Amino acid sequence: MSTLEAVAVEASTCVLCRLSEGRTNVVFGMGDAHAPLMFIGEGPGEQEDRQGLPFVGRSGQLLDRLLLEELGITRDRVYIANVVKCRPPGNRDPKPDEIDACRPYLQQQLDLIRPPVVVTLGRYAAQWLLGTTEGITRLRGRAYPFAHGVLIPTLHPAAALRGGAEPLGQMRADLVRAKVALADAGHVL
Ligand code: URA
Repeated sequence: MSTLEAVAVEASTCVLCRLSEGRTNVVFGMGDAHAPLMFIGEGPGEQEDRQGLPFVGRSGQLLDRLLLEELGITRDRVYIANVVKCRPPGNRDPKPDEIDACRPYLQQQLDLIRPPVVVTLGRYAAQWLLGTTEGITRLRGRAYPFAHGVLIPTLHPAAALRGGAEPLGQMRADLVRAKVALADAGHVL
């Protein structure tokens, strides 16, 4: 049985797709390996690539704030990862073959952490993990059966940073939804 650390070590030298060519660091994930709540974003941006950690730029600061305000926790109590572990050049969307190449890493993270509640951040992660082309505004607002529990789609924090009060309120509501789902699964954060 592999550990999260062993998978991270394996990923750190990964050359399975072209994103490896432009990366500074593999951004495997961070947080509590036993967390009941896992966040999944799209892929590392510039700051994340530089630091080797997920959601450390402005989006991450907003995520931290919302975690504190809606769930009363800091990020070390959850696990945070992305669909792809290396930064797509110019922050373009990851391509299907890049996601396919990277998918075993995310799958192993899910299987080792076994979070009862997964919150996806943004259209991309939700569509990819749920296998749908439905837009995020239609997808969000409910929980879907997924992996070892449920998946709750929410907006990307960057959308809330751009869009102001309405998307921010929707993200808050989705985090409350996650809190309820955690309680339903017997977890109090
Ligand atoms: N956006 C993402 O989707 N993931 C990160 O890690 C940072 C920004």
